[in-house]
Amino acid sequence: MPHLPRFHVVITAVITVWLGHGPSNADPVPPRERIEIQTAAGHRTVDATVLVEAVDGGLLVELADERYELLPPASIAGRQPLPDAPAEESPRDLGQRILAELPAGFDVLVTKHYVVCFDTSRDYARWCAALFERLHEAFVNFWSKAGLDVVDPPRPLVIVIFADRRRYEAHASRDLGVAADRVVGYYNLLTNRVTTFDLTGTDGVPRPIGRASSGTAFEILSSPAAAGLVATLVHEATHQMAFNCGMHRRLAPVPLWVSEGIATYFETPDLENTRGWRGIGKVNRPRLDHFLATHRPGDIAAIVTADDRFRAVEGPLDAYAAAWSLTRHLIETRKKEFVGYLRTQATKPPLADDSADDRRRDFEAAFGASPEAIEEEVVKAMARLASQR
Ligand SMILES: [Zn+2]
Repeated sequence: MPHLPRFHVVITAVITVWLGHGPSNADPVPPRERIEIQTAAGHRTVDATVLVEAVDGGLLVELADERYELLPPASIAGRQPLPDAPAEESPRDLGQRILAELPAGFDVLVTKHYVVCFDTSRDYARWCAALFERLHEAFVNFWSKAGLDVVDPPRPLVIVIFADRRRYEAHASRDLGVAADRVVGYYNLLTNRVTTFDLTGTDGVPRPIGRASSGTAFEILSSPAAAGLVATLVHEATHQMAFNCGMHRRLAPVPLWVSEGIATYFETPDLENTRGWRGIGKVNRPRLDHFLATHRPGDIAAIVTADDRFRAVEGPLDAYAAAWSLTRHLIETRKKEFVGYLRTQATKPPLADDSADDRRRDFEAAFGASPEAIEEEVVKAMARLASQR
């Protein structure tokens, strides 16, 4: 199975400027406002929900299409409260609005929980949507059963699928910069969308042949190369679910080990199953092997207290493998405590900042042991798991 680097959106540079101010609002019902924005690009007016008002007057707002936007104080020319909740927009209208931003040739597929915008075959879009719907249901079931209050996302989740790598890269480079050619799909915390391209026809995955959707799925999944495809799609869709069901808050200081740990916990494909994926918590063989091959003492403590290893140019996959191993071990041995830890993280507001000490404290409070002590357990547990092949 190919190891494809995956990233959250790279917006660190923007956020860093903001962290010093700290959020100042603790209002449980964020206010809606009409905001006049004046920048070098011109003047515009947006109706938005104000999520964070920074000390310097800058705003983090959520727009009607679920996008977050950071407004520097100097760009805000006027603010006016809006009394009413916005008119409910149908998923189809939402899809049409997104189409207007995309290059020509896109179409919309609406399913129960998703709006899929695609310029590839409708068969591939349908196959992806079916995979996302299964993930959606399994995700909500798993965490509800574990005792976490997850909700159905209040609005449709948006997926954008480009027909081929070239068109995708041209679009994705706006979000990912030069990393676009290394990332086959990503979830963007600002737009709240998953963007990817049709992976059939690349890397040995066969193109679907135009039949009923179940037939198409089977064609795609009959290839061993499909494992990476399924893992990538499920991984990114898991992030999107986690940030929309009440588990994580977008732009809150969710430690990457836990968000990546959960995404890798869910991503495991199962190619013996013609539906391609059923695997919550199955042994994620590539991650397990990678962890055992690369682990060095202190690796787990390092990802518990800081995120930098996930962003390292060299070896970010080591951090992903450690995140999977730690998450898998905690869910197996301390599920209740893990859910408690998630609950604590969900209370943190967007753009808040957590120090290494804060993160260590949260971890120790939840699990009753130091990251170093848990690390010893994880190494032993993973070695045992590998010997059970
Ligand atoms: Zn990820």
